[in-house]
Amino acid sequence: MTELDLDDPVNVSTTAGRIFKIIRDHGPLYGKDIVRRTGLAKSTVSAYVDRLMSVGLLREEIPDGMKRRKLKVAESAGYVVGVALGQSHLSVALCDLEAEIIDSVGGPVDLVRESPEKVLNRVISYARELEQRAGLGPSALFGIGFGLPSPVDYSHGVPVNPPVMPGWDRFPVASFLSQEFTCPVFVDNDVNVMALAERDKGAASDLAYRKGSFLLVKAGTGIGAGIVINGEIYRGAKGAAGDIGHIGIDGDGTLCRCGNTGCLEAVAGGRALAARAQAAARGDRSPYLAEALVRGEALDAEALARGAACGDEECLRLVASAGAYLGTVLAKLVNFFNPSLIVISGGLTNLGERFIASVRESIYSRSTPLATADLIVKKSTLAGRGATMGAAILVLDEVFSHRNVGMLMRKISD
Ligand SMILES: [Zn+2]
Repeated sequence: MTELDLDDPVNVSTTAGRIFKIIRDHGPLYGKDIVRRTGLAKSTVSAYVDRLMSVGLLREEIPDGMKRRKLKVAESAGYVVGVALGQSHLSVALCDLEAEIIDSVGGPVDLVRESPEKVLNRVISYARELEQRAGLGPSALFGIGFGLPSPVDYSHGVPVNPPVMPGWDRFPVASFLSQEFTCPVFVDNDVNVMALAERDKGAASDLAYRKGSFLLVKAGTGIGAGIVINGEIYRGAKGAAGDIGHIGIDGDGTLCRCGNTGCLEAVAGGRALAARAQAAARGDRSPYLAEALVRGEALDAEALARGAACGDEECLRLVASAGAYLGTVLAKLVNFFNPSLIVISGGLTNLGERFIASVRESIYSRSTPLATADLIVKKSTLAGRGATMGAAILVLDEVFSHRNVGMLMRKISD
């Protein structure tokens, strides 16, 4: 067998997969760049590129003022659906093969009261609505990706011991959706898919980080981290890696909903912060928050940021302490894991740049100098799009993996 054996399915898949991945990661590329990056013979690259173009997965692009063609993913050759389920909101997005959002739809959800069947039936009707609006046929969908606010057994596509979703433990999310759609369905923890979005589209998308190691921290009502090692998600033995919300803050006795005391989430999560803001407003410690309460405004992260910007001392203190608590836990991770980048997202980022600065300061003061030598800590720029885009990327990484590209090519050719 040679690399040019286009009749051998395993060979087609691995070689085509290699070429396609390089174009996905680095494209648009000239043919000579693909030869250089893969180390394959020019004739081999050319044969596989022709095959990938004939099934419609690649297309040519001629840069302005240039004569020679570059190759890129044919982004409209198919579509994927990215689903982001939060504790109070469901978003479903239709994305192209470069994970760009074409259209999206969503609405509020109550994970405590609504059954998994009810929520998933809404996912189905949203996805069908998006297909219809885009005028897509049944074979246009390459896959569905799903981010859940729970640890997930990735290989079986089921949530495991979700702390905030009664009735979802081991519910067969992937197979429930597979019964409705003929395409594959992939389910992962929401923070993991957000990390994929940062890797490909956000703060970590510089080449140095795409193959690098970084943390995506979602700090909101819950607090969790997506761990990316050499460009790949690290899920741990049971899918529970990165559940940092229940790492203890030394000496703190606040009771957490998990039953332990002093958990990061119980001390610095969105609910804890809102409770502190309420107490400060009612206890006359914060003139800004007391007035906001009288005006009937929500005492949330935005309110604290506004109060801090006005110089309200209690708001400044609350913002700084939330950052310091998060930074204290992240410092432990930095010492252990030595990432090159930490991206912070979630509702707590609405506390503003002061919050990020406080996180940064706490990490730097508690980590070893070598671990923080080139460490960057910054806020996500993807806003609300990270989870649906990341769920789409989860699908694309799977359907375009070395072993699956050949299968996809055959499916399209048939
Ligand atoms: Zn806890």
